[in-house]
Amino acid sequence: MRTRYISRRGLLQSAAAVGAATTLASKPLRAATESDVLVIGAGLSGLRAAHDLISQGLKVQVIEGRNRAGGRVLSLTDIPGNPEAGGNGIGAGYGRMIDSAKEFGVELVNIADRAPLIFMRELVLDGKVIKESEWENHPRNVFKGPMKKMMPWVPMPMLMSTKNPLGKNYEDWYDPKSFGLDISMHEWFLSLGFDEAAIDLAYNINCEHGASAHDVSSLMVAFTYSWGNMQRDILPRATYAAKGGNQSIPNAMAKALGDKLHYKKAVVGIRTEGNTAEAVCADGSVYKAKKIISSIPYAALRNVKIDPIVPGALGRAIKTMGVQMLTQSHIVAKKPFWADDGLKPGLWTDSIAGNVMAQPFGEKPTDITSFTCWHRGWMAARIDRMPEAEAKKAVIADIEAIRPSAKGKLEVKGFKSWYNDPFSCGDWAIWQPGQVRDFIQTISKPHSNVHFCGEHTAMSNRGMEGAMESGERAAQEVLQGI
Ligand SMILES: Cc1cc2nc3c(=O)[nH]c(=O)nc-3n(C[C@H](O)[C@H](O)[C@H](O)COP(=O)(O)OP(=O)(O)OC[C@H]3O[C@@H](n4cnc5c(N)ncnc54)[C@H](O)[C@@H]3O)c2cc1C
Repeated sequence: MRTRYISRRGLLQSAAAVGAATTLASKPLRAATESDVLVIGAGLSGLRAAHDLISQGLKVQVIEGRNRAGGRVLSLTDIPGNPEAGGNGIGAGYGRMIDSAKEFGVELVNIADRAPLIFMRELVLDGKVIKESEWENHPRNVFKGPMKKMMPWVPMPMLMSTKNPLGKNYEDWYDPKSFGLDISMHEWFLSLGFDEAAIDLAYNINCEHGASAHDVSSLMVAFTYSWGNMQRDILPRATYAAKGGNQSIPNAMAKALGDKLHYKKAVVGIRTEGNTAEAVCADGSVYKAKKIISSIPYAALRNVKIDPIVPGALGRAIKTMGVQMLTQSHIVAKKPFWADDGLKPGLWTDSIAGNVMAQPFGEKPTDITSFTCWHRGWMAARIDRMPEAEAKKAVIADIEAIRPSAKGKLEVKGFKSWYNDPFSCGDWAIWQPGQVRDFIQTISKPHSNVHFCGEHTAMSNRGMEGAMESGERAAQEVLQGI
């Protein structure tokens, strides 16, 4: 039987014990080169790996391309309520995140009571608000049978709960017996009796994984939902966030590294030969170590020259793994326009505003401090081609046209395209149809002295917890091999 959740400390202690018994006892810890291990990237996975190695006595350096830590965890602290432009909810089963917050003195708060307001939104198709009471008989409602009563965002998560092919065994996603499910979501919907119009409505308009149901594996989505449902099973009313914004966690982890962490070191090349590996940065600096752990997302790693080239399935993973297109606009309202038009504060649209979600992060769970527009898939593709100022104007104009009571009251205070950011080149990893079968067994294998971590390499978790899991795994690999 597979272990469903292993505590982070338990894993580390056993890895350290194995390492000590087999290799560490017989070899000096200090390498002849600059450090034992060079970690590239100060996101959650790289930071976790670095701390785990340091705690075992290794000499570690961390280099980070941006001028901040956290990677895809980014809290907008200059906007009321500190909305997140990156990693949001910390689930009850995020053992490593919760442990790390405690270890580095960051307080977590339960935000579950705010969720109902975040998801309170009106359906908007073709620029028109369609009230819940009108939806069942509306001409745009192409669902059939009992689904006709459901708002468009309901069937997909509902089916991924009631008909999830993995059931509760989310870790089965990487077992070859599941590879028959490594088909597109489009094919999966067809197998459930959906037609093209219903797939469009239920999946493609506000596409959480991929840009359409064609380019994501139903096996990955089944894993994501089965794993997500497990979080709720552990503690139904618990979703955490770090006090002051989730970025407090990587910030605290980065601070504890002191002068071992170097910012603005954009790696452009990684070379590995014999017992050493080195990373070459855009500013010409070179960092050498016995081993490198790269946490660069594969979509961004495509732009880094790796010598010798990575062959086989791992090479294909680096070159072709999918990535979520996602851009966010963070809007502050000068006046509560939703009180004037009587509509719900949020909007679920098929236009450029995307999925507009209220952020109730004031003193009371009913205080709306800002709105986050999630522009995903094709909406992100459209917005990302516009100059930022034009994109912001287009989003505001769209919302104002839908609800005139918002006119003149909105300001986009935060804007983030993850796809246009060269240090991420997109948001979460997307396993495209056939990719689980092709490279799940090799996704996290080392290439000579270079080891890989990052949420895209996680096997048992996704998101922030997946990043932590992968950092921990990479540290163990290094501990056992150095
Ligand atoms: C909008 C959004 C919402 C999300 N919501 C959730 C959520 O609710 N729950 C959840 O669990 N997860 C969520 N996530 C996902 C989660 O934030 C990420 O999976 C996680 O933070 C990834 O961590 P990582 O260490 O794998 O990668 P990253 O955070 O991307 O870290 C990689 C690091 O490498 C650096 N780097 C990249 N290229 C180079 C280079 N060439 N040279 C040097 N450094 C480089 C980057 O700057 C970065 O710091 C969300 C993400 C986003 C963007």
